[in-house]
Amino acid sequence: MNRLERAKMNLLTYGVAVDPEVVREVTQGGQLPLVFNEYATTSGLSLDIGNGAFYVNAPLSRTAGNGSAVLRRSNDGLAVLVGNDRLEARILPLPGYLDRTDAKGRRVADSIFTVGDRARLSPITGCSMACSFCDLAGLKYSKRPVEQLVEALMIASETEDLRHVLISGGTPSRRDYGFFDLACAEICKHSALPVEVMMPPRASDPWFVDRLVDVGVSGFAINLETSGIGEVSDLTRQKASLGRSAYEQAISRAVRRLGRQGAVRSLVVVGLEPPGHSLEAIEWLASLGCDPVISPFRPAVGTPLEQSAPCSEVMLTQVFEAAVEIVSQKGVALGPRCVVCQNNVMAPVG
Ligand code: SF4
Repeated sequence: MNRLERAKMNLLTYGVAVDPEVVREVTQGGQLPLVFNEYATTSGLSLDIGNGAFYVNAPLSRTAGNGSAVLRRSNDGLAVLVGNDRLEARILPLPGYLDRTDAKGRRVADSIFTVGDRARLSPITGCSMACSFCDLAGLKYSKRPVEQLVEALMIASETEDLRHVLISGGTPSRRDYGFFDLACAEICKHSALPVEVMMPPRASDPWFVDRLVDVGVSGFAINLETSGIGEVSDLTRQKASLGRSAYEQAISRAVRRLGRQGAVRSLVVVGLEPPGHSLEAIEWLASLGCDPVISPFRPAVGTPLEQSAPCSEVMLTQVFEAAVEIVSQKGVALGPRCVVCQNNVMAPVG
């Protein structure tokens, strides 16, 4: 691992303590939020380190120490002190649409979330599944009107410099597959930007990949989450019950349609199971031609795993270093390939 990778690993696992003077400045004396929570993995502080060398969403740590980095003022800007290293840093600005509403008076920020140049749209709030680590599982399941999503994207495009769109959020129930597919088609139709979709496979509908590619979807995140080996399968019961064959079918179809250049990826949460199991899953995914994504487990408030320990630096290092070898042997890469979108995952730097 190089110096920047070590720094990113440290920020992901130990987090960052922000100097009170910086908090006062950034929040304008407490009038603005320091962070804007979305998912557990994006609930920390989003930082640009080393002028775009890497981006990281670092959990906020109340106090420096226990390995956490410190963010403080340095000359004209900010710097993060990680171990003995000092790196130039910039807090990613909060989106400019936070106080905007659409034509029907609905808050734009309810249906869109942007980090850097990517907009995330969620046709489903809540989820038809219930993974133990996920904070969406506890929310009420509902469908968001498609025109609301499209309008939110148009408004966010006025305030943000967007380059791509990710449709994600909760998994639709089987009876809402049609709604979800229509939402994807409408968003593709109205978006001038590439649109990716994050969704599990559909055992009863393996052709969804082709249909979505035909309406303009340019990438997929078909997340395995865990190896499914042994007790860990209980944590993602509905997803694990789909079986590896459903994942293989969906991922292979997507790779056939979109190629092996990073358009198809699959995330593995590291820290919930022995590293050997995570690596088995990563190797299997790489052998299908998709990019594995290494997401360090971060316990989310209000979930069954709230009290669990986060992924340790030792485990993340072990999995990352072995995964780098695996993907190079299989001719893929650790995803996602967009450097800004790597903010909450571990991927090579430099
Ligand atoms: S399927 Fe995805 S959104 Fe739904 S609970 Fe699991 S991780 Fe969360």
